[in-house]
Amino acid sequence: MQAHICTVCGYVYDVQSADRDVENNLIPFENLDPDWQCPVCGVRLDLFKPITEERLPDVSVSDAKKRM
Ligand SMILES: [Zn+2]
Repeated sequence: MQAHICTVCGYVYDVQSADRDVENNLIPFENLDPDWQCPVCGVRLDLFKPITEERLPDVSVSDAKKRM
């Protein structure tokens, strides 16, 4: 499961990190209703983006250094 962050207000939608009491009420981001809105600032799903491990950019940089 991947966490998603609101690019407007920084709200993080993450089922795994949710409180246990609330967990059952949380839906995987992919399954959210298209009309779902950020609970903080009210923007739509398309302004959320997945939070990825920031490893990919570092890999390309380190590869470039190794070649030098
Ligand atoms: Zn927001």
